[in-house]
Amino acid sequence: MTARHSTSPPPSSPALARVLGNDLCAGCGACALIAPGRIAMEMQPPGWLRPCQKAPLDTVAEQRIAAACPGLSLLPPDEDTLHHHVLWGPYAAMHTGHANDEELRFAASSGGALSALLLHLLESRAVDGVVEIAADPDNPVANRTVISRNRNELLAAAGSRYAPSAPLADLAPLVASGERFALVGKPCDVAALRVLCRQDARLRETFPWMLSFFCAGVPSQTGAEEVLAALGTRPGEVVRFRYRGNGWPGRATAVIAGGGERSMSYHESWGGILSRHVQHRCKICADGTAMAADIVCADAWEVDDRGYPLFEERAGSSLIVARNARGARLLEAARASGKLTTAPFDVAGLARMQPGQAGRRRALLARLLGLRLTGKVIPRYRGYRLRACARQNPLKSNLKNFLGMVRRVLQGRVGGNSRKGRFSG
Ligand SMILES: Cc1cc2nc3c(=O)[nH]c(=O)nc-3n(C[C@H](O)[C@H](O)[C@H](O)COP(=O)(O)OP(=O)(O)OC[C@H]3O[C@@H](n4cnc5c(N)ncnc54)[C@H](O)[C@@H]3O)c2cc1C
Ligand code: SF4
Ligand code: SF4
Repeated sequence: MTARHSTSPPPSSPALARVLGNDLCAGCGACALIAPGRIAMEMQPPGWLRPCQKAPLDTVAEQRIAAACPGLSLLPPDEDTLHHHVLWGPYAAMHTGHANDEELRFAASSGGALSALLLHLLESRAVDGVVEIAADPDNPVANRTVISRNRNELLAAAGSRYAPSAPLADLAPLVASGERFALVGKPCDVAALRVLCRQDARLRETFPWMLSFFCAGVPSQTGAEEVLAALGTRPGEVVRFRYRGNGWPGRATAVIAGGGERSMSYHESWGGILSRHVQHRCKICADGTAMAADIVCADAWEVDDRGYPLFEERAGSSLIVARNARGARLLEAARASGKLTTAPFDVAGLARMQPGQAGRRRALLARLLGLRLTGKVIPRYRGYRLRACARQNPLKSNLKNFLGMVRRVLQGRVGGNSRKGRFSG
């Protein structure tokens, strides 16, 4: 998908108006999948993929959007899984590991575990193709959705891309193809597709596997443009751009037309620039760890004595969480087929490994209260144990997050009207 920049008229769909009017859109593209031709994802200032309504919706489409849109609500996490952790949700198995294919491991974001699992799905013929995200050839900092059918195509799409992606928007033709696909998406993409699969047997058959990654949030395209400017590049001269990968964590690297490249560290690009451009929905995300996925991967960061992740370059390592029994069987089969090397990981160490994810879950209830008390709409998060998470947060931090969110609203940094939403810890 190649997105165009536009400003769109306000939608007539009440569900879309509620999401967009309250800055709650995550940009997943589920609404465009539900109503193809009537809703299209377009790039809107300051660089978000947002739905643009082209024609009126019927009642069924309206209801399906209201049920699946992750800006409005998330399905409660599955309580039947082997383990259920207050912070980290359901899981059947938790490991660290890496792809055994050294080229994949090097190109990938972390240890290449996602790409190795996808390769196993393709080679074992569990799926015909993989829906994933790769660089847009027309705009190297932007994304497009691609279908990978072999190892070399997986290799080309490996690596994290810290820019908007809407993988669900392009799925309708795949449903008609009669083939089966694995989908890799942000946790909110997977959450929305899981809801839609519950409603629709054809979608369920088409997407038997959903994989994801821990997600701290999507920066706007303006963030990427700021990285290019900080690298000293001129508009139009960058022909390829990687956000990271080619090492762990790998450097943000721009390749210049005519040769030469400029780069900065992951700490400088994500920590110094991109993380300041993350959309509002991500700041109040209850599920940055993809509780609805079959398997979710993350950086298996090592930490220093003070608990700060170490970002020195080294051979990549992934955290691999099988969210359900099927996911655990897939992980075992990929390991047995020689695609992956794994080692068991104790959940007790995860908050140290992923302090950002732990902190956001613990602070979430306070942030949502700040929004509610200032009359803002919030997503419905039933079953996400937000009260239990908040009890792990010092009172001072809860207060700081509450006041911070109130201040953001009063300063006009959270868009929208004053209709109320519901939440449940
Ligand atoms: C927006 C974003 C936020 C992230 N936040 C965290 C975090 O909080 N903690 C953490 O540990 N790691 C985070 N990551 C990195 C991610 O966790 C790692 O990519 C993960 O460890 C998988 O590594 P891998 O080597 O197994 O994946 P790879 O083998 O490199 O495969 C990566 C897969 O992700 C897909 N992908 C890349 N970018 C996107 C995108 N924008 N939208 C949808 N799919 C995409 C690729 O197409 C590919 O299929 C984030 C990545 C992104 C894109
Ligand atoms: S979050 Fe997804 S489904 Fe909801 S409005 Fe945005 S793109 Fe559409
Ligand atoms: S932080 Fe949450 S809402 Fe934002 S992109 Fe990631 S999963 Fe989606």
